[in-house]
Amino acid sequence: MAVFWPNLAFIANALLPFKMYLFKNVNDLQSHLNKIRKKGGKIGFVPTMGALHHGHLSLIRQSVEANDCTVCSIFVNPTQFNDDADLEKYPRTVAKDMAMLTSVDNDVLFLPDVSEIYPPGLNTELKLDFGELATVMEGYFRPGHFDGMAQVVKRLLDIVEPHSLYMGQKDFQQLAIVRNMLTQLKMPINLEMCAIIRQEDGLAMSSRNVRLEPALREKALLLSQTLQKGKAKMATQTPAEIQQWAIKELTIPSFKPEYFEIVNAITLQPIESFSDTDYVVACTAVWVGEIRLIDNLIYKNK
Ligand code: AMP
Repeated sequence: MAVFWPNLAFIANALLPFKMYLFKNVNDLQSHLNKIRKKGGKIGFVPTMGALHHGHLSLIRQSVEANDCTVCSIFVNPTQFNDDADLEKYPRTVAKDMAMLTSVDNDVLFLPDVSEIYPPGLNTELKLDFGELATVMEGYFRPGHFDGMAQVVKRLLDIVEPHSLYMGQKDFQQLAIVRNMLTQLKMPINLEMCAIIRQEDGLAMSSRNVRLEPALREKALLLSQTLQKGKAKMATQTPAEIQQWAIKELTIPSFKPEYFEIVNAITLQPIESFSDTDYVVACTAVWVGEIRLIDNLIYKNK
């Protein structure tokens, strides 16, 4: 069943209402997309877990600009959460999300239930080996997370069959793993990496930011500041020295840094010297009170 969601801002402007299709089940979504594909239309896909912010919207905008139809999915995927409390507390703001999506002319929202993504009897398990890409950083601290993430992205790609997939640099390691999955499975999908959108003070936008206590929200800009200051030390210090300095910098009351790694941006393995490779990224994960935040900054790209 397709449901139309009129763009209220559009109506308020006394213009024709822009309509977004909302599909809750796979068959309806696929028959809609098949019609577009038959006419030679290009489909762009932006998978999300909802609680949308301007970071998500920048992905949608890029897809809308480059494709005939943009599909955004909102699905809080239980298989990628290794902490039940985090899954339960994950913010869910569907009505607001729909208004935001229509404001950027998103064409289709796919809003499935768990039983639609993981129907009984369908084996969606993925048996891929991501090697060392998945054992460092997020893979080390969130065991099983990338298996669940790859499982849901593969399932969603099989459903949507997009020409292009839009993902954020914000989740740098996730993107590297999805790129590796597309290569291993020979899936002919163009993967676009979209820049990190930040709040005015530099904090990377995240659905989890709304859960930060106000006092800690102010302090959370320390992540992006430390990434920036670390980059400024590249001329005089080794990656290991900068890492050590950064961990100390991030160790303040209520903060618990899990890692600050300076790695080869392709292999995600630590580098000994900045001359080792042309493409380097610094990635960090820090507990800020009860909330775990991640951020990264490209230190070198040729
Ligand atoms: P999520 O809903 O957190 O799973 O994110 C959905 C997509 O939005 C992922 O590809 C993220 O990398 C991307 N994303 C999340 N936060 C940002 C941000 N601040 N800037 C750009 N993209 C983002």
